[in-house]
Order: sequence, then structure tokens, then C-alpha cells
Amino acid sequence: MKCKYCDQDLPLIHSHIVPEFLYTSLYDSQHRFLILSNADKKPFSLKQKGIRENLFCETCDKKIGNYEDYVAKVFKGGVGLTMSDKNGLITIHDIDYAKMKLFTMSLVWRMSISSHEIFSNVKLGPHEDRLKQMITSENPGTIDDYSCVSFILYDKGELVKDLISMPEIVKSQGIRVCRFIAGALIWMIFISIHNKQYEGRKWFLGFDNKMFIRKANVTDFPFIVDMAKRIVNKR
Ligand SMILES: [Zn+2]
Repeated sequence: MKCKYCDQDLPLIHSHIVPEFLYTSLYDSQHRFLILSNADKKPFSLKQKGIRENLFCETCDKKIGNYEDYVAKVFKGGVGLTMSDKNGLITIHDIDYAKMKLFTMSLVWRMSISSHEIFSNVKLGPHEDRLKQMITSENPGTIDDYSCVSFILYDKGELVKDLISMPEIVKSQGIRVCRFIAGALIWMIFISIHNKQYEGRKWFLGFDNKMFIRKANVTDFPFIVDMAKRIVNKR
């Protein structure tokens, strides 16, 4: 079968779409996690480790894996980074922009090429090929290309570790954004290369060579409250 990364006819690996380190905290509890969905569907309950699909050959899977290894280390504190935490904002001062950015771009691209139901809302149209070109040529673009912002989620002062949402495309200031919750973060990856006017650009990944993670409460986000209500109503 054709590898989606290098387009060569090679044996494909059963690759994950969202890397496992984003789920790790969940496995520690019940080895089962619930995925919130805004659609009129039952919430997904997945017992297997992550969501896997035959997308890439071994070599290409490793290339993507390199970005993931870096990001996993960032979140687990395995790389020496200078971080500050003040006024509700976590700043990572010396982030490797290219690696982090290519990771976020590859994440949304993989969601788009996946045929798994959980990613059915993420269809990128012409941006799919554009992203593929940038990722395969290891070009992270500028901070305004497929920009990324993130929030870390708290509920009554506790970090929310046990929440994953079905990725969806929403509009933010008129721009299409892929939004999902994983690894205690809300990820917002812009499906656009025209984000210069975005209010909040100063929090884009890579602005001033930094990464910013804003602290937020689940109740700050009506979409989370709505998703939770749907689940309660269906039980
Ligand atoms: Zn390949």
C-alpha cells in the first residue's frame, strides 16, 4: 500500500494518530477513556491504546515520531527548558519552534487523512496537501501559517487530565480552527495561513521564539460545558 507520507508502495505500519503521551494520564486510572463529542452521537469509549491506522511506512513513521519524541519530552520535563509561570500564563522560553510546530501540523494533517470516525469532523480540503508538502519538506512555516494556540485546563484548581474531545473544526474570529482536548490541553490549530490579524496573535506558538500555554477553567469554555451536559443527558 502507498505510504501517505512518501507516496511509495511499501508495507505500512499500524501508526497512532494522536500520540500516546497525550493519553498517558488517562491510562493510569481505568485504562479506558471517554471522548467527548459535540455531535449527536454517544460519547466514544475506547479501551484500546489510542487510535491506530495503517498510514505510513516504517521510515516515515519514524520521521513523525521524532517530533513526537521532542514534544513528549517537553511535556514530561525531559529537555532542559526555561519555563515561567505567572499571571495565568505558562511560557516556555526556548522551545524548538520547528519541531513543536511540525508536530502540531502533522497532528492535524494525520487527523484529516485518517478514516477513523473520531476524526470525521477534520477534513482539511486543499490544506491537506499543502500541509503534507510543508511537513514532508520539514518546513514549519511562519507563526502565521497554520498557527497554534493552547490552553491548560483546570477544574476547581485541579488539572483536568481525564478529558479528550472529538476534534472539530470551529471558527475563531472568522478563521477555521481545529480544536480538541488532549493531555490536559485545549489545542487550537488554525487551518489557515492568513492569521496575522488574529487578536491574540501574541500567544501563537513561536511568537517571540516562545510557546505560551494559557491557564483556563473548564467553565470558561461553553463547548466543554455543552459536551458534558450531552453526556449526562444520554446516560
Ligand atoms: Zn513512507
